[in-house]
Amino acid sequence: MRTISLYIHFPFCRSKCAYCDFNSVVADEGLRQRYLRALQDDITRTGNTLTFRIGEDEGLTRPTASDLLVTTIYFGGGTPTVYPAEELCAVLGRVRRSFPVIARPEVTVEANPGTVTAEGLALLRETGFNRLSLGVQSLLDEELRLLGRCHTAAEARRAVAEARAAGFENLSLDLINALPGQTVGAWQATLHDALHLQPEHISCYGLSLEKDTPLARAVEAGELRVPDEDTLVEMYELTHRLLTGSGYEHYEIANYALPGYQCRHNVNYWRNGEYLGLGAGAWSYLAGRRMKHEPDPARWVEKSEQGLPTLTEIEELDERQRAGEAIMLALRTAEGLDLAELQSRYHLDPDRYSIRLKALIESGLALDVAGRLVLHPVHGFLLQSEIAQMFM
Ligand code: SF4
Repeated sequence: MRTISLYIHFPFCRSKCAYCDFNSVVADEGLRQRYLRALQDDITRTGNTLTFRIGEDEGLTRPTASDLLVTTIYFGGGTPTVYPAEELCAVLGRVRRSFPVIARPEVTVEANPGTVTAEGLALLRETGFNRLSLGVQSLLDEELRLLGRCHTAAEARRAVAEARAAGFENLSLDLINALPGQTVGAWQATLHDALHLQPEHISCYGLSLEKDTPLARAVEAGELRVPDEDTLVEMYELTHRLLTGSGYEHYEIANYALPGYQCRHNVNYWRNGEYLGLGAGAWSYLAGRRMKHEPDPARWVEKSEQGLPTLTEIEELDERQRAGEAIMLALRTAEGLDLAELQSRYHLDPDRYSIRLKALIESGLALDVAGRLVLHPVHGFLLQSEIAQMFM
């Protein structure tokens, strides 16, 4: 029996944030409902056969669902909570009827604080969602306006209180730093406020300015300025210091958790584990193959309704690519990279990198912890991609 994580994508949002280039659109109720029906059909179909198709004639039959056991379920987006809680619960019910799922799966739903209600959260919790990931991003209204978020800081606080009242004991807050004009003090204020809310998990991502987003255009036009490199390093160090000082484990470059509350779904990704993604734009990684669904929600719905293949890419990863992915992912985590496995599983010759490894350890950027290469949680993590390249 193989264990997998299951990801379900909801590609709709109430409005588009100024920095967002994720696979999400603002759509009318008609498309959202057609998407929901097609998604439920796809869950049933995939659970029954686990058959993926690409192109007119190519049929790829994967192992049957009985070979797989789902350990984590993640409803991500977009904003899953643009759908009423009843509809999300129906999708979860469909998953449970279609796939073998372990007795106590981690079941996460992402939510935008502007799209949740106390009643809806209570229903989600009762139905089996046991982890809520709230896209708070900032606890300063001025920054939320800059980001084009559809909620205020007060609404984010209210959503946290409602989630607690609904019985969510595993709550994650997403925060963003490196915003145009943001000072270290402003970031510190958001971190302090977030800590007051006592979430079990905090994700802190640096804003990435994606081409053709309103925020990127404003920066290109010189209307806004992003913080310089030294400020970004200062923010990263501050985050590590404040959160670890408050009892959180810095278990991945951008992720912190109280003991026992690491996100099991994401840990599976970082361990290069297998996962199945359903819905527009969702990726899967099964049996050494990476596969992607049609990203455009309307086209995904049309293809699905017409019984056409919804996968647009299938890539067979060779040993070198699989090693590269495993290295890149492992070095993001506090678990680090198993050096013996590089040789036994990916046949990488240790002589190729032993001198550079020694230099890394001597410089303090990394530690050898019982045969695992673990990057320093600040200086090493900040150079993670450069260090990973050393092994490629
Ligand atoms: S809520 Fe998230 S996915 Fe939706 S537009 Fe904003 S950043 Fe993008």
